[in-house]
Amino acid sequence: MRIRFVVAVCLLGSFLARPVPVSAQDVPSAAAARVPELLRGTYDSPDRAIRRDVPLTNVIRRAFETGTRDFTGRPGPNYWQLEADYAIEARLDPGTQTITGSETIDMHNNSTIELTEIVLRLDHNILRSLVPRGSSVPAENTEGMVVTRLRVNGQNVNLNPPPRRRGQAPSGLAAYGMDQTVARIALPTPIAGESTTTIEMEWHTKLPGGPDGRGHRMTQRWDDTLFQPTQWFPRVAKFDDLRGWDDSVYLGPAEFYNNFGRFDVRIDVPGGWVVSGTGVLQNPTEVLTATARERLSHVLESDDVLTIVSESEVGPGVSTAPGDRLVWHFVADRVNDFAWATADRFVWQATRATIPERGPVPIHMVFLPDRADRFENAADLTRHALEFYSELWAPYPFPQLTLQDGPSAGMEYPMVINSNQGAADHEAAHQWWPMMVGTNETWYGWMDEGFNTYMNILSRADREGVEARLDGRGQSYGVRSGNEAEPTSMWNANYGGTMYGFQTYQKTSLMLSMLGGIVGDSAVQDAISEYTKVWSFKHPSPWDFAFFMSNALDQDLGWFWYSWLWTTDSVDGSIEEVTTSGPRTTVTVRQDGQMPSPVVLRVEFVPEGPAIEPVANARMLGETTALVTFPVDVWFDGGRSFEANLDFGPRRIESITLDPSCRFPDRDPSDNVWPAGTNNSGGCAE
Ligand SMILES: [Zn+2]
Repeated sequence: MRIRFVVAVCLLGSFLARPVPVSAQDVPSAAAARVPELLRGTYDSPDRAIRRDVPLTNVIRRAFETGTRDFTGRPGPNYWQLEADYAIEARLDPGTQTITGSETIDMHNNSTIELTEIVLRLDHNILRSLVPRGSSVPAENTEGMVVTRLRVNGQNVNLNPPPRRRGQAPSGLAAYGMDQTVARIALPTPIAGESTTTIEMEWHTKLPGGPDGRGHRMTQRWDDTLFQPTQWFPRVAKFDDLRGWDDSVYLGPAEFYNNFGRFDVRIDVPGGWVVSGTGVLQNPTEVLTATARERLSHVLESDDVLTIVSESEVGPGVSTAPGDRLVWHFVADRVNDFAWATADRFVWQATRATIPERGPVPIHMVFLPDRADRFENAADLTRHALEFYSELWAPYPFPQLTLQDGPSAGMEYPMVINSNQGAADHEAAHQWWPMMVGTNETWYGWMDEGFNTYMNILSRADREGVEARLDGRGQSYGVRSGNEAEPTSMWNANYGGTMYGFQTYQKTSLMLSMLGGIVGDSAVQDAISEYTKVWSFKHPSPWDFAFFMSNALDQDLGWFWYSWLWTTDSVDGSIEEVTTSGPRTTVTVRQDGQMPSPVVLRVEFVPEGPAIEPVANARMLGETTALVTFPVDVWFDGGRSFEANLDFGPRRIESITLDPSCRFPDRDPSDNVWPAGTNNSGGCAE
């Protein structure tokens, strides 16, 4: 505000001083003479000075103003988050493939903001044919989530109000959009800040069938004998300090942004059907056989894989306690979703992982007997994942993890992964994000899938006992950059289009490879570990991540976050010329990209000759190899070439390689060597 006011005054002042302003065209400018250069971007001048701050949009400015977030990248002094506790009773009828449920949600408005509406997420409405959908199209259309009764603080909500014109006040307590994935309850009396609201609902939904894996998480049963319900109950949308209600529709590809809370869930299924799910089973004596309970009591004793319910144990009184119907009761204390699975002939196996600072936790696996081969390595892979990622970021926080077999084989929920061994490592990694660090996956899928890809690289290398290959990844972005279909990472992932996979899954590991090339990979990982702990069970934004990392790494990295997250630009470096004069060699490094980077040169000397003299910004990698680093600042004035002076004395230099670890995005790495044509690959390729 103040800046705008000053500008207005200045303009006014200039008009008063000069009665007739001259046309801009009458004033020859220095820049005009260089228009062709400017258009080509080939000029060398500060006109192109590098942007070094992290752009702020209105949502983060508001958070800074109200003190919920700040430049430390940690939750601000006034940070708050909406939370929601669920008590759900659900009955599965395999014959109609339908769950009938009733639930009570205690919604805690921990902000001081009055809520004039409640936004509900009815994800199963994506199964209705006439809702917007992304590229994941369900194989079966259903009626979606049919809510038959809705009450707020004990008052009935009108589920079929007359249509409301834009801006028209609602008549009474009424729900709109109940046939869409996002619905709104209009509240004649707003909900006060710092209060709890009770929402009660009765509903039913049919679980969609179809071919395996069709639409990722849109196929939730095999016939009427195995069910894998996900996004299966109505929930309260996220309300946060950034955007208020998150009313992004559920389109299929982009994932979720959910409230943390306690889940108390009772699942009523036929006797003999084993149920697995989020949380801890509260009533084993009511639903399990004495034999199964005895076997379970040994799971934490060793890394052995124990069978809790075997292939030959089928039916009421054998695979489960006796009875026509059994109610399985699960409780999860602090989670942002609840998923479960059940089948009439699940094999149930279990083992343990030993979590640093915590001790052993059980890993359960439920699968169909004829698919046992897909779970042969699952226990080892999952144990490794939980133990490795606990060391890497923060100890696994939940009391168990369960792998569930079924048509959805590659999806994550708190304490539950719908996966066999194929994606066990990746899906287990999701327990850190979004299950522990609750990022907004709908907008910023990269803060969940992108970090995940990075950690999977580290986990795999650890399993194989080799060094993680992060070299080459950063450089590889150079050939990707410039594709006009690529959205920036800050662009809502729902609109990622054909490059959704790259934007969400791959680009972040390239970014973190480059960051490691600047500060070192272990420094990157230590900082992310701190970030994980600081934001556990909270909801960081990309700004929080960027500011937290810059602070933790004690580096001015605004240029880095700006380039990687807000643009699709890349570095494009090359060695233009090398000249030697006496003991000094000057390397002219050219920068044709918009993203700057440190200038890192690997210098190879001839084996014999005068001593190689020490240089402050260099370290010797061997007897005849030096690594010289000039900070990124050399580009900050916008220049496109930099003269790197090497004062190693008169020992002759044999070859020089720019960015020898291949960490900085480069469209054409072949011009990074001198003399031209020297083989510089150095094993950088991915
Ligand atoms: Zn994933």
